[in-house]
Amino acid sequence: MNNIATVVQHQTRGIEHIVEGVATSDGAGVKLTRVLSGKLQQRLDPFLMLDAFASDNPDDYIAGFPDHPHRGFETVTYMLAGHMRHRDSAGHEGLLEGGGVQWMTAGRGVIHSEIPEQVDGLMEGFQLWLNLPSQRKMIEPWYRDFPGAAIPEYVTPQGAKVRVIAGSSNGVAGAVAREITEPLYLDIHVPAGAEFSTALPDTHNAFIYVYRGTVTVDGVQVAARRMAILSNPGSLGNAPGANSVTLSAQEDARLILVAGKPLNEPIVQYGPFVMNTQQQIHQALNDYNNGHFA
Ligand code: MN
Repeated sequence: MNNIATVVQHQTRGIEHIVEGVATSDGAGVKLTRVLSGKLQQRLDPFLMLDAFASDNPDDYIAGFPDHPHRGFETVTYMLAGHMRHRDSAGHEGLLEGGGVQWMTAGRGVIHSEIPEQVDGLMEGFQLWLNLPSQRKMIEPWYRDFPGAAIPEYVTPQGAKVRVIAGSSNGVAGAVAREITEPLYLDIHVPAGAEFSTALPDTHNAFIYVYRGTVTVDGVQVAARRMAILSNPGSLGNAPGANSVTLSAQEDARLILVAGKPLNEPIVQYGPFVMNTQQQIHQALNDYNNGHFA
């Protein structure tokens, strides 16, 4: 065996930037924090949006998201706590509960509603928008509910619990796999004093969002309700790629880690439609107004 040939270079990612997000409301008045939008869509390509919601005040969520359209991307809703009913024009319906994931491919168009099925208690979770490659923006809509028990999990020797929603981590394949953007979506619970590492392809843009406690990545602390964009020197083509991330927790911490391979295609968004050109946006509006969505 040739020792030199078997050396694996592990470059660990650092933190490029910490993002606070913007408090806003959407749907019929659901209060949430928009963590990813606008300019970050280029930096975090293929991800278009991340909303974080967490409230035990029903006034903040009870009205939900009545019927609205989408075209050109996928929505991934991860519930930490609460009950939300989904219905869409493609005939899909499901009740999303704590620990569960709803993965919806809007493709060429879907009209759906997301309405809370609770009148009090905590509602907490995330909605992530994953872009579709240009040649797949007009595919048939697709939908699946994954109850909490259907999300693969593993526990590390140091006691970190990892739920693998998409992609794979430390040899465990997640609930969903996607070609081209190869998204990785993990929910990671790190006990105080523990460290956690996972491979992260050097082709991928990546970020974490901490929702409990504080974690440290490459010497930088990331507090709760903050996103940290992970650096990727390799993407600039003038440095070795960083192909892993290591984080540690001084107190019990929970976070999501999201990564994907950029599409490097034009992004033209008009509200719930995300296409590649203005012409395609006009077409989406025409199709929606003429009742041509699924
Ligand atoms: Mn929606």
